[in-house]
Amino acid sequence: MLPIFKSSKARKNKRRSHQALRRPNLVSCPKCGVAKLPHAACQNCGYVSSDVALAMKSEES
Ligand SMILES: [Zn+2]
Repeated sequence: MLPIFKSSKARKNKRRSHQALRRPNLVSCPKCGVAKLPHAACQNCGYVSSDVALAMKSEES
């Protein structure tokens, strides 16, 4: 199947004006300093908050 009418460049670009990707908000881990998503466990050390941390397989320090 093919579209009946060709979409103009303006119509196509207007449609795609909402599709831009946004940079995720990053905060630095208070324990190791690596950038991480807020309210999420640190990818590097597993730190979540002062009394919550994920057990990582190979944790240094
Ligand atoms: Zn960390």
